[in-house]
Amino acid sequence: MYLTAKAREVLDGLRNSWKNPENLVGFLTFKAIQAKAGKPSRSFFNEAICHWFGTDDARTLRQWAKAGRRVVNPRGTGFNLLAPCKYWVEDPETGEKHPVLRGFKAFHVYPVEQTEGKPLPVIAPPSPPPLAEVAERWGFRVEYSNGDGRLWGSMNPSAKVIKLHTFHPGVFYHELAHAADEKAGTLMNGDKVDRETVAETVAAILSRLYGDPIDGQSWKYIRSYAASPLSRIESLSARILKCVDLILSDSQEVS
Ligand SMILES: [Zn+2]
Repeated sequence: MYLTAKAREVLDGLRNSWKNPENLVGFLTFKAIQAKAGKPSRSFFNEAICHWFGTDDARTLRQWAKAGRRVVNPRGTGFNLLAPCKYWVEDPETGEKHPVLRGFKAFHVYPVEQTEGKPLPVIAPPSPPPLAEVAERWGFRVEYSNGDGRLWGSMNPSAKVIKLHTFHPGVFYHELAHAADEKAGTLMNGDKVDRETVAETVAAILSRLYGDPIDGQSWKYIRSYAASPLSRIESLSARILKCVDLILSDSQEVS
């Protein structure tokens, strides 16, 4: 197939340019999505608790009611978050008021998955990334949500969901590559270094093919996992090309 031959050519080109990392371009600063979708802002600690309970959005009964939604079973679900309790003291000399932390109080919230009612505003890029149709054909939901700059995306093969916290297509390609690796039955072969090297090399190939190279970024990422990236890529090149092949075979261009 033309596209797969092209992918092989691109991989060779990438490996050549990665031999001289000092000349690389395409280092990126991803921008985390910061959209207002009605979700209350939470402290890092409370966000972590929400993630621990497996949800991106948890609110109080009143906050859900304000969003036009109701909790399906208010007795059986939910968990607690913590809110700081402050009081204000006045400086006798300057007259200025300072907050003093007295402790924390718990308040009960319910995950979005346990609510129903008015649809929540959907966060989406101005236009879908190239190859979005492949994720759809493979039965994946692609969900965008606000990011904290630590994690840019994730792929859950059993829930069939790709979560993205930036609109940059390079991160979508990376997660789609993990999905292709799983489809090929090779996702769990080797170790995490193999998985990440495969996914990011596929992302670099697709980024070049779709005219938005991220060579420098991908190199930085792979190097953060693999001690000798080039030999790792070499040993994984069949698996890498298989993933690209699966993705391109199901893309619009060839259908
Ligand atoms: Zn990854």
